[in-house]
Amino acid sequence: MTSETQAPQRYLIVPMHPTPNGRLHIGHAAGAYLRADVLARHLRREGHQVSVMSGSDAYENWILLDALDADRTPAETCWRFHALIGDDLRSLGVELDEWISPLDDDHAEPYQRVHEELLKRLADAGTARKVPDPTPRSRDTGRHVIGVWLKGTCPQCHTPGGGNACEACGYHYQPAEILEPHSRLDEGPLEWEDFDSWYLSPPSVEDVIDAVHASDVAADFADIAATYLRQTKGAVRLSQPGDWGIPSELAGPEGVLSNPYFGFSLYCGEVYRRRHGTEVNAFHRDSGVITVGLFGIDNAIGGVAASHAIAASHGELKAFDHMVTNYFLDFEGEKCSTSRKHGIWLHELLSRTSATADELRYHLSHVDLTSGSDNFAIAAFVDSVNRVRTQFAAAEALASDTDGVLTAQDTERIVRAVHQQGESLRPGAAVSLPAAVRVLDDWLAASPADGGGTAWLTGLALLAEPFMPVVAQRLWTALGRAGRPRLADLGRENGRRTATATAPAEPEKTFTANEIAPVCHLRSDRV
Ligand SMILES: [Zn+2]
Repeated sequence: MTSETQAPQRYLIVPMHPTPNGRLHIGHAAGAYLRADVLARHLRREGHQVSVMSGSDAYENWILLDALDADRTPAETCWRFHALIGDDLRSLGVELDEWISPLDDDHAEPYQRVHEELLKRLADAGTARKVPDPTPRSRDTGRHVIGVWLKGTCPQCHTPGGGNACEACGYHYQPAEILEPHSRLDEGPLEWEDFDSWYLSPPSVEDVIDAVHASDVAADFADIAATYLRQTKGAVRLSQPGDWGIPSELAGPEGVLSNPYFGFSLYCGEVYRRRHGTEVNAFHRDSGVITVGLFGIDNAIGGVAASHAIAASHGELKAFDHMVTNYFLDFEGEKCSTSRKHGIWLHELLSRTSATADELRYHLSHVDLTSGSDNFAIAAFVDSVNRVRTQFAAAEALASDTDGVLTAQDTERIVRAVHQQGESLRPGAAVSLPAAVRVLDDWLAASPADGGGTAWLTGLALLAEPFMPVVAQRLWTALGRAGRPRLADLGRENGRRTATATAPAEPEKTFTANEIAPVCHLRSDRV
């Protein structure tokens, strides 16, 4: 091994908790979840102790709309999609140590407690305060018309929309700012009244902004967060009117606690503490656990601004040590969208075509979402699947017939390649899946005879592990090695292979555009 190898560290990785109101499409997959899994596999390959936790954003406002449309209770919507999204992530090969529903009997009470204790501490310290908010209420039904129920026109770009933020320009507005406000439902005119909600009040907004800029989050995300923090003076919302949210007396008789991403992550830090028997929450400044958050551009405020503002206002917490961010995936030139039914859904692709999770992960890793959106084109995907399918079929055939040992030189060369790949997988803004997967591509393109079949195959298994874990494991096992592909194992003699060690590779089949066509959904007005 080389001196570059670090001492083992503890990591907690928390990809953004998805809203349980629909299944996952390739756009979701290409964002936080694939990134989180590639990162976790890379860090484990290097010998670090890694936990990945996520779960469903059960208290998101849009749940209520699905429940209304589908004629089920909000909890039924949550349970249904919590299970289905969990299945989608598993089918993509995303390994999670915890998949948390805040509605679960095991989580509900401690989940509430983490959020209440946070608000109590902030309130006691004077860094959270109740602010009267002008809030619309329906004269006929008496309901508060906020979030998903409130429709109107964006005060900044004048696009019709609703909720809390403009989908066209990204502006986050308060209910009172929206133009021509009206309810999504037919419930008569709106009346305005003040409703007391809790808001964060950080001791120094400039300190929070400095912390954002000093972090390793991508500069454009930091700028969005800084602008928001300046505009709002760091007033991140902590409670809201309504009855769908985290129940708490602190929020008043007609209110609930809000469920921000950092609050969810803080709960994951608590689960981490329980599981590993550590003294403090993983997000405590002295936890010794490196925390990583992953989210898309729509969560620049929730992910960057809110987490830094809450941590600074608390005093003993830290924001994510690293943030890995992404822009959105287009499908055939247009943003993947659940509501417009535009995209490819994971469960359809992986169960109705011969494309494997490994092949999809490989292709999605070439898509560059680091500094802008990128496109998923069907033709490019078909080419990519066929190329990598042929290459790995050849590698597996070779593995069943190779029985060499690694020289010190071989080992050095493999370690160098893995470290080179790792340069693009260091948690933070520098994470680049395309750059990292290119190292695998270069290795694939090199002739196996260059360093003998065994060395090439061993390197291939290690370099493929973060991206194509199933085939990486098959190669590793075929080479007579135990467990998952790990750098530290290179120093050990590879075991004697037996005829049964190699799982028979499936016969190679050509992937075609015809095969994938039935699962491609193009928004109806395009076809
Ligand atoms: Zn707008």
